[in-house]
Amino acid sequence: MPISSAFRYVMPTEVVFGAGCFSQLADAVQSLGKRPFIVTGKNSARAIGALDRALSMLPKSAVFDAVEENPGTATCERAAGQCRQLGCDCVIAIGGGSPMDVAKAVAALSVNPGPCSAYFGSEKLTHGALPVVAVPTTAGTGSETTPYAVIVDNADNTKRTITAKALFPRVALLDPELTRPMPRSVTVFTGLDALSQAMEGIVSRKSTPVSDTLALDAIRRVKSFLARAARDGEDLEARSEMMYAAMVSGCVIAQTGTTLVHGMGYYYTLEFGIQHGLANGLLLAPLFQFNAHEAPERVRAIVEALSGQTRPTASPATQVAHEIHALFRELDVSPAAKDHGVDESRLAGFAKEVAADPYRYRNQIGNITRERIEAFYRQSAEGGIA
Ligand code: NAP
Repeated sequence: MPISSAFRYVMPTEVVFGAGCFSQLADAVQSLGKRPFIVTGKNSARAIGALDRALSMLPKSAVFDAVEENPGTATCERAAGQCRQLGCDCVIAIGGGSPMDVAKAVAALSVNPGPCSAYFGSEKLTHGALPVVAVPTTAGTGSETTPYAVIVDNADNTKRTITAKALFPRVALLDPELTRPMPRSVTVFTGLDALSQAMEGIVSRKSTPVSDTLALDAIRRVKSFLARAARDGEDLEARSEMMYAAMVSGCVIAQTGTTLVHGMGYYYTLEFGIQHGLANGLLLAPLFQFNAHEAPERVRAIVEALSGQTRPTASPATQVAHEIHALFRELDVSPAAKDHGVDESRLAGFAKEVAADPYRYRNQIGNITRERIEAFYRQSAEGGIA
């Protein structure tokens, strides 16, 4: 794809990748602090043995193990209060995107005064942040290589983002062994998040030649390995490929941001409890049929990555939807959002709210109207191809 404009590429996170590399946690933390604050979810890090292993490597650590899925401002403030009170000087995240994002918010709130909501937006951390070491145990969000903490504002139940270069984790320890215990559904849904982020990066107004290259690589790997990882969780090659693809999808959105897929998907998650990655996945076919009309060459590149064909014959709009649906079939997931609990009578209201907040789709190409957003929701609910 042509280099159309000037760009900047920033990726300060040191990535350590490899089966068993979690054993290097103490080395990763050594130069960053003496009293780590470990942030994790309610069950899985303990269940897979990662929390006990971390505590045996770093016995002076304090632990906050109460992060919920789609975490809120109240949790971040409570955790940051504990971190400050205990005098911790670095933060370790062990878990999926939810604990990683809370760890970043804790790192910010420990050295910046005031409520979490004061920092929604871009570069508002006047005092920087504590260093963060991220240890993902899902393979999807790529939060380990992004400057974002996505947090639900408990005041109005909307997802908002703290964006700051200071929030890029200093180190990301990527040990695919930690993802082996993921149940099939978590594997599939988080994997769809990686796919979504990579696809959105390619059509984002902020795409760069570097992010394009990374995104196409991530798409190919998800297509080749997500179904394998879902079929056999013990398949370490598939787990490694997915963990790598997810990290790379984080590198992509760190540059490009996300698009209308994410802006719309949050409603599925917050209103119907649909897992974040699945919510995005359910919107890919309608949005990329639209994107294909706006940026046919970009969507053609996605189709080639998904299909493995160098000269697909059908139009990119039709073919991209067929490729997404084929992947959903392979994963044994219905592409119809109504099959996952979406109530179609709510969609017009969601469309109105999304349309009223263009910041949510500032990276989206094309002319976006309330009517279009509602049509995307309706197509997603039915799981059809326009
Ligand atoms: P998650 O909410 O972190 O975790 C989902 C579920 O998987 C939880 O029940 C968790 O259990 C469990 N789990 C995690 N690792 C496991 C393992 N190895 N084995 C078994 N179960 C495991 O899900 P996620 O999809 O990774 O993260 C979603 C969040 O990330 C959303 O809030 C989204 O907005 C955010 N996000 C952030 C960025 C960013 O750049 N900052 C990018 C994309 C998405 P426990 O709760 O017990 O740990």
